[in-house]
Amino acid sequence: MPESAPKEKTLLQRNIALVVAAGRGLRAGGGLPKQYRPIRGRAILRRTVEALLAHRRIAAVQVVIAADARAFYDAALAPLCDDARLLAPVTGGASRQESVLRGLEALARIPDGAPDVVLIHDAARPFVSAALIDRVLGAVEAERGAIPALPLVDTVKRADDECLVTGTVERHGLWRVQTPQGFPFAPILAAHRRAGGGALTDDAAVAEAAGLSVRLVPGDEDNFKITTADDFRRAERLLATVAADAPAAPAPIPRIGQGFDVHRFGPGDHVMLCGLAIPCDAGLIGHSDADVVLHAVTDAILGALALGDIGQHFPPSDPRFKDAASARFLAHALDLTRVRGGRLVHCDVTIIGEKPRIAPHRERLRGELAALLGLKREAVSLKATTTEKLGFTGRDEGLAAQAVVTILLPAESVPAAAR
Ligand code: MG
Repeated sequence: MPESAPKEKTLLQRNIALVVAAGRGLRAGGGLPKQYRPIRGRAILRRTVEALLAHRRIAAVQVVIAADARAFYDAALAPLCDDARLLAPVTGGASRQESVLRGLEALARIPDGAPDVVLIHDAARPFVSAALIDRVLGAVEAERGAIPALPLVDTVKRADDECLVTGTVERHGLWRVQTPQGFPFAPILAAHRRAGGGALTDDAAVAEAAGLSVRLVPGDEDNFKITTADDFRRAERLLATVAADAPAAPAPIPRIGQGFDVHRFGPGDHVMLCGLAIPCDAGLIGHSDADVVLHAVTDAILGALALGDIGQHFPPSDPRFKDAASARFLAHALDLTRVRGGRLVHCDVTIIGEKPRIAPHRERLRGELAALLGLKREAVSLKATTTEKLGFTGRDEGLAAQAVVTILLPAESVPAAAR
């Protein structure tokens, strides 16, 4: 064998996948960043991470997330939380390139050694196949990256701002590029450090700018990036074909959550309950609008998901939540339910206090709560009780509320140990 033959790659080579999920991704519509939106009950990010973890030659997966997306990340990847190969997420930057740099820096700090090869992958490409990953890994060399690409089949036109064609582009030699993009770790880290977090849209461009050569390997049409509403429909169709051959899903697992909240009475002429102003000879004191019902329900939902409490998600010390409408907290808890693949099916609330009288407003409050929760009125119960003049509620010092909710979680998203 000639001396110049490349050293045979062995399974000892340490490959780590870096998933870039820091974008806001609002192009696809819907309130949630697209990488957290579920497709057939599973968040896109979770599907992507699972596809990477399923590959025998990938030692670990590192996800880069937006600064305010930790709760979404935790909800999406809760079923994988016991997998030590999923590294703790790192916070990205303002651009994709900056986010990748931060991810690479985190990998460089791994105590038992940085990877030999890093596969940089878009969070919104959940259909990456093992064969594609093999092709990329097989083509990465000590001083060369490898990226999947597909030939352009459509004729390419150039047009002006009025959509008038100004010419035809010779498509020979043009390629559509995908991810994962594989690179030897040290050179791509150096290239990204030198590029310094600019606005290049893929990592091969960073490598090119640093003089690192990059080889194309065959991409895969199914490895498309979910960007538009059409892409979501295409992803649903793709998964429907797979699901048609799979055995019927086991029954979902019910999770019960409970929440409790109290606010102290102060000066005022109304209290907020279920997002409605209810006349009262006092107001409730709070950093937000002090809606005890919505706070208790929000905590009950977070409880069913085992995702902390309202104070963790919306710290009272944060000025952004001063006088906030509590429906916003509830909407966040419902978003987390969707990200987790769960479905809220029932809510039962008890308001505890001597005032205001709830009976005259009960059905309106119940209807409003049902609307906020996206439930039918029959799935929402709203009760009220006094405490017979006993305790702090009996002395008119404050108002309390308790809530219990039921959420159905897909069985496959609940680790066996947590069933
Ligand atoms: Mg509260």
